[in-house]
Amino acid sequence: MSSEVTVRWLGTNAWEITSDGTTVLVDPYVSRTYTGATVPGQFNPDTPITVDETAIEAYIGTADSILVTHAHFDHIADVPAVAAKTGATVLGTETHLNLLRAMGTPDAQLSQVGGGELYQFEGYTVEVFRSSHGVSGKHKSLLFPGTRPGPVPARPEAIKDLVEGGSLAYLVTFGEVSLFFNGLPSFHEREVAGVRPTVLFMQGPNPNYPDYVPRMLAATRHPPYIVPTHWDDYEAPLEEPAVDHFGAAALGELVAEASPESEWVLLDHLESHTFSA
Ligand SMILES: [Zn+2]
Repeated sequence: MSSEVTVRWLGTNAWEITSDGTTVLVDPYVSRTYTGATVPGQFNPDTPITVDETAIEAYIGTADSILVTHAHFDHIADVPAVAAKTGATVLGTETHLNLLRAMGTPDAQLSQVGGGELYQFEGYTVEVFRSSHGVSGKHKSLLFPGTRPGPVPARPEAIKDLVEGGSLAYLVTFGEVSLFFNGLPSFHEREVAGVRPTVLFMQGPNPNYPDYVPRMLAATRHPPYIVPTHWDDYEAPLEEPAVDHFGAAALGELVAEASPESEWVLLDHLESHTFSA
């Protein structure tokens, strides 16, 4: 059986995956609210959460499922609007889902996962992996750490209210084509070992993770295609070419070195690529 899967980059770690009339979205975030996050010294954690309905109208069509990797604003802030528009099933941790409940997403659409699940959907499967968010600085600091288990918390108002809430990676498989979304440098090597996706989505190198790129490529047995993700200035307009803010070029060089047989597929904002097997 041959399969064709088309991916389209919506900036940040936001991906639309379509195959045979089915659509899966990963971290659909298109509001690109200005927080100062990509300007040194300008980041404002009190920035109000705002949703750009026009962007959602323009860039989000239908969806069957939405996969949440973690609950930072640049991953989850638009999910309530996207879930409402599409009626899609949303996968995430208890904290991710509790934050979505607090922002008005109906319980009926929410599916709590923790890593280890393998689910059959109509036309594709989703396998969930535990992961960890990337850290920065010598004290290995995590942005907006925390969880919101138990009762539904107060509605998040500022971006700092969207705590990380655990991190997940996802293997999405349509027939012969599988795509591994591990947009975090802190992957769980021993759990990932042996997975061999057709397409691996990965982030640029981070000094806190020794040999991250060669280790990731070895753990996933040198996938045929590597796509860089979350490398743009995610506050700049999606209509403009992506600016390499988080080391896509550096990642490309390391991939070429560690995995010369893999094809490097660099997509710009709103560009698509079809993978077949
Ligand atoms: Zn992010």
